[in-house]
Amino acid sequence: MARQEPTFRDNVDLMFNRAVALMDLSPGLEEKIRVCNATYTVRFGVRLRGAIHTFTGYRSVHSEHMEPVKGGIRYAMSVNQNEVEALAALMTYKCALVETPFGGSKGGLCVDPRDWDEHEMEQITRRFAYELAKRDLINPAQNVPAPDMGTSEREMAWIADQYRRMNTTDINAAACVTGKPLNAGGISGRVEATGRGVQYALQEFFRHPEDVKKAGLSGQLDGKRVIVQGLGNVGYHAAKFLSEEDGAKVTGIIERDGALYSDAGLDVEKVAQWMRSHGGVKGYPDARHSEDGAAVLMHDCDILIPAAMEGVITMENADQVKAKMIIEAANGPITAGANDILAERGVVIIPDLYANAGGVTVSYFEWVKNLSHIRFGRMQRRQEEARHTLIVNELERLSADKGFNWELSRDFKAKYLEGADELQLVRSGLDDTMRTAYQAMREVWHGRDDVDDLRTAAFLVSIGRVAASYRAKGL
Ligand code: NAD
Repeated sequence: MARQEPTFRDNVDLMFNRAVALMDLSPGLEEKIRVCNATYTVRFGVRLRGAIHTFTGYRSVHSEHMEPVKGGIRYAMSVNQNEVEALAALMTYKCALVETPFGGSKGGLCVDPRDWDEHEMEQITRRFAYELAKRDLINPAQNVPAPDMGTSEREMAWIADQYRRMNTTDINAAACVTGKPLNAGGISGRVEATGRGVQYALQEFFRHPEDVKKAGLSGQLDGKRVIVQGLGNVGYHAAKFLSEEDGAKVTGIIERDGALYSDAGLDVEKVAQWMRSHGGVKGYPDARHSEDGAAVLMHDCDILIPAAMEGVITMENADQVKAKMIIEAANGPITAGANDILAERGVVIIPDLYANAGGVTVSYFEWVKNLSHIRFGRMQRRQEEARHTLIVNELERLSADKGFNWELSRDFKAKYLEGADELQLVRSGLDDTMRTAYQAMREVWHGRDDVDDLRTAAFLVSIGRVAASYRAKGL
């Protein structure tokens, strides 16, 4: 009889249990960390198109060892309590791994955004935000949502505005949610952050030839064949940056209406434009199309990037996956059973709690920006430029004095003299975060005989930090 596939929530617990079995935590503390603290379910009505429609939403708080708690809000018909709780748990471990000072949370609303127009979505979102904010489930000091599947800057702007209307004297109101548009208190680089983080994670992986070899690969990212599932926020940015900046070749793009593939490589920007104007990938002229999108997950490639949803690589298809490594841009795309099959086959998996942490990392920067009420770099940028100019002028003067008449190249000067703006600082902070977190996982991966995969290593690092935080509180 075929083994039964556990639920997403059971998968997260299974992976957690695997890691804690290697740790020396008291059973009480272990249980405290594992359980989800609270889940609030709300059912609310909105009058739309002449009738009252009832929507069901959730906000789950997994761990409050640090506050505020943080996690995205997802809009999809498949949203349910178990899923939201699993995602909230992942947020706890993710935040601990990348050292963002938050507990874990997640929210979701059972709605298909394609069923409603923009004004209707605004009414639905504002009402959901009202229900959450009045219970402090949206609050700059307690619970700070962000975008996730089906939501974007647009919904975050509505949520921020709704909170502000309800808390007119809260000077920190903008920090109640992250992922806002720039003109509504957002930060440069947030929209691209999760995909950018996937790129930085892969760049860091490829800095370690030993690790690259474990995946049966060699060299750098340049020329590596990549298949991506889901050309949404995360998948689009990851695929775009990897192909345009690192020389990777995107040979497959899997979407809801099938998949495109081309050995010569796909132009990610062109495919994204096609999707925007045609609502899907079907009909795109410069590639082959497969109706059975999921089958392309099993095509030969070097790096597979599931960036759509959970549970897509299962015990059913894991043994047919040909990718040498998988980076989990989505949350929970590989089930625990599939994980075992892939591990046995030597496929290297860069786990979700690390791979897609770029979003929460830049959300953290946005939250800090909102609380400090000033754009990063505003005070230092010109002063930095002035100091660099001093050095360059002095070098040129010295060389002229000595009769060398060296002149630094225009290109060098332009790059060197420029002070860092907000986007550059955000990218630098994100890059540093992704490198540091990888190194923490890697130390465990290579340093312990009883750990042979990055996921267990990631959980060990995270749970260790959460446990230390609870212990410091006297638990
Ligand atoms: P999104 O809604 O912007 O994009 C999802 C994409 O996947 C869409 O293009 C959609 O058409 C496609 N898709 C949906 N079902 C599919 C299917 N069955 N097969 C193929 N494609 C399918 O969502 P997103 O924000 O990019 O999130 C994607 C994943 O990344 C989710 O698991 C989410 O939890 C995770 N994530 C997102 C962020 C973020 O900052 N947005 C941060 C961390 C993790």
